[in-house]
Amino acid sequence: MSEKRVYTFGNGKAEGNAQMRERLGGKGANLAEMNLIGVPVPPGFTITTDTCNEYYEVGQDKIVELLKDEVNAAVSHVEELMKSKFGDVENPLLVSVRSGARASMPGMMDTILNLGLNDEVAEGMCRKTGNPHFVYDSYRRFVQMYGDVVLGMKPENKEDIDPFEKIIEQVKKEQGVELDKDLSVDSLKRLVTLFKTAIKDQTGADFPNDPIEQLWGAICAVFRSWMNERAILYRKMEGIPDEWGTAVSVMAMVFGNMGDTSATGVCFSRDAGNGENLFNGEYLINAQGEDVVAGIRTPQQITKIGSQRWAERAGISEEERVAKYPSMEEAMPELYAELDALQDKLEHHYHDMQDMEFTVQEGKLWFLQTRNGKRTGTAMVKIAMDLLHEGMIDEKTAILRCEPQKLDELLHPVFDKLALSKAKVITQGLPASPGAACGQIVFHADDAEAWHADGHKVIMVRIETSPEDLAGMSAAEGILTARGGMTSHAAVVARGMGKCCVSGAGAINVDYKAKTVEIDGTVYKEGDYISLNGTTGQVYAGEVKTKAAELSGDFKELMELCDKYTKLQVRTNADTPHDARMGREFGAKGIGLTRTEHMFFEGQKIIAMREMILASDVAGREKALAKLLPYQKADFKGILEAMDGLHVNIRLLDPPLHEFVPHDREGQEIMAKEMGVSVTEIQKRVNSLAENNPMLGHRGCRLGITFPEITAMQTRAILTAACELKKEGKNPCPEIMVPLIGTVLELKQQKAIITKTAKEVFEEQGIEVEFEIGTMIEIPRAALTASQIAEEAQYFSFGTNDLTQMTYGYSRDDIASFLPAYMEKKILKVDPFQVLDQEGVGQLIEMAVKNGRAVRPELRTGICGEHGGEPSSVKFCAKVGMNYASCSPFRVPIARLAAAQAAVEE
Ligand code: PEP
Ligand code: MG
Repeated sequence: MSEKRVYTFGNGKAEGNAQMRERLGGKGANLAEMNLIGVPVPPGFTITTDTCNEYYEVGQDKIVELLKDEVNAAVSHVEELMKSKFGDVENPLLVSVRSGARASMPGMMDTILNLGLNDEVAEGMCRKTGNPHFVYDSYRRFVQMYGDVVLGMKPENKEDIDPFEKIIEQVKKEQGVELDKDLSVDSLKRLVTLFKTAIKDQTGADFPNDPIEQLWGAICAVFRSWMNERAILYRKMEGIPDEWGTAVSVMAMVFGNMGDTSATGVCFSRDAGNGENLFNGEYLINAQGEDVVAGIRTPQQITKIGSQRWAERAGISEEERVAKYPSMEEAMPELYAELDALQDKLEHHYHDMQDMEFTVQEGKLWFLQTRNGKRTGTAMVKIAMDLLHEGMIDEKTAILRCEPQKLDELLHPVFDKLALSKAKVITQGLPASPGAACGQIVFHADDAEAWHADGHKVIMVRIETSPEDLAGMSAAEGILTARGGMTSHAAVVARGMGKCCVSGAGAINVDYKAKTVEIDGTVYKEGDYISLNGTTGQVYAGEVKTKAAELSGDFKELMELCDKYTKLQVRTNADTPHDARMGREFGAKGIGLTRTEHMFFEGQKIIAMREMILASDVAGREKALAKLLPYQKADFKGILEAMDGLHVNIRLLDPPLHEFVPHDREGQEIMAKEMGVSVTEIQKRVNSLAENNPMLGHRGCRLGITFPEITAMQTRAILTAACELKKEGKNPCPEIMVPLIGTVLELKQQKAIITKTAKEVFEEQGIEVEFEIGTMIEIPRAALTASQIAEEAQYFSFGTNDLTQMTYGYSRDDIASFLPAYMEKKILKVDPFQVLDQEGVGQLIEMAVKNGRAVRPELRTGICGEHGGEPSSVKFCAKVGMNYASCSPFRVPIARLAAAQAAVEE
């Protein structure tokens, strides 16, 4: 291969530019670009990301061989521009070696500063600068960094102390000083010697004196750091592919530690926390880069206003602030003015908030890095809308600038940052439903209700949840389960409620009898505090304070902007009038799924429901259904009213019946009394409902086929509610949906019952309401025979939870037991119950939409599985031409943004 692997920059010229981030990494591309637009950057060169991949293919020796000529030429180029020479005793060039991937991975990989120093070069530099303290401080830092990064001295366990830090402590003690910066020249020299000895002792190797050998060691170490544990973990979290590789940027050193006219700092063109358009950052006089972030010295603020705010928070008087912690604006006004002008130039050039690093060497300002700054969800929205108003970006760009998933932060309570920094993670589960919650542990739904009624905040801890826990879940601040995946009962219900939930935390041991949970050797009792982060899946010991989410005007404006471009509508999944109203407030254009079964668990309803299920004949069932009818009608009326004028898609009964019957003695006794039969008789019927595989058993439309009177009762309830509303002058738009069909005949037969019942209801009511009959496509066979089904259905709603379950053959309730292994072994990249599998399940969907529309061109299609609120899945739905996506109320804004992005990207 004769491809170019090294790109130089310096003195206002560069071989690369900002468009080349794939090859040069973000840092390398921006260093080149900064040169091109007149921002002062020390000269250097960047080795491409492809070379990193080659490194892993061919190994260290071969890569050095491949790079040698280009790197040597690039070093000469830098030497020329810096008018100094690598390894030269009189006029040495020192360099930094930095990593830089395509996507920014702050702090994940390694950096080496001051490379090129050895004993002779150090002495030469002392003569040249007349500043031995600076030289030996730089030298000891170099040996330390080189030892840690290149020679593997850094302890693997983060908790273990760096061997070099131990030596520093010892030498400081000997000299009787507290701070690193107070070490004498002799102490610094001693550190260099002791460091080298430690390296020899621990690794058996001598510290390399030859700067070129140092350089190769550092370049290869940066390549290696691409595969260090924290980088791998970060990539996993951020979805960054391993194949991208890191570039290596080698740059002439400039020094912020050459005395009081030198400094180093980090700054942001806007506030990354709240988005305020305010230049801000931190700096230190007479320091090197890592001092600012290492927390050894307290960095000072760059701007005066930032400094004043900081002092106010820290309780420091204005006099003390000015004397001890002046801002750069006050301490170095001219350099500050230059820095301010350049940060503004960079923001205007990149049209986005910049995160920059700079160094001042003896009164001259250099930029070492710029990148688009990481930001919170709040800042993301504010910055996008501000940049739009300032005319820096257009509407479409503003939409694309916002990450849908990050809107979550604006919708749920979050942990107080300070409280979180002190909290201890005790275990990790799946991030089942976002937000933060803290409260006292309870183990049973009725306890959750009782404690809540007494004014306690509670976290419900369960092995898993079932529909019977609904009221308890509703009373709790958050839910933690040991079992269950992202579409387990706990996860789905919690998301619907907008309630924080961590599911599938396999390492917790729940003991319901003792009312304890054991986590990592510690036993937590009922009443003990824990805190959950449903966004990350982390569980904390104790009470970590939370604060409510703030919805700003910018957020609303962004959503309105989305509506201007979007083609895919967003509906909400809602089972109660409250959820329906919430979804509507978040901008839902109707309901995509009402799961009627969730309505059966409150108060008297469950008794009538159980009576219906346990009845031995049609007459018994009809008697119980008659009791249920008024409840159902009232529920539907509430929902239809909340969504007045918008479509409400109500699904007929779906889950296996055993979920509704009493499995405990007490419940069975109540049922026996209610129905006038013996407890044994009840037990017999409960047992008869047990199935080996309930998910594939007597559920979905199979219930309506075997018990047509259920379908009739539900239809009656829906349409009577609609007729009554219409008489009150409202505009109800019901849709009746048949679940879990696999053949068109199932739909046909259910449709006949619905149509017949509708006729009866309209006659009784003396009024008619327009309604539609549709079906769910959630069994692969239904997708495969979509053209037949479309003959009978006015709409399709893709139930991607079941469709994923049945396409992959993974139980949606049991995936947590093998998912981690599958992810680790790279069989799965993501949880398919969370992110739609476009390749497999997606094919079924695309085909069903196409074949269905071929038969019925006006066929409405939507998604109502959990994927309806996941951005990449929503974009897929837009791509295949669906009419709407439906998701839980709290995800409606996320889906709206993703849908708008899909339209803009098209
Ligand atoms: C589905 O299967 O995707 C669906 C929406 O139905 P449920 O989750 O209630 O089975
Ligand atoms: Mg389903």
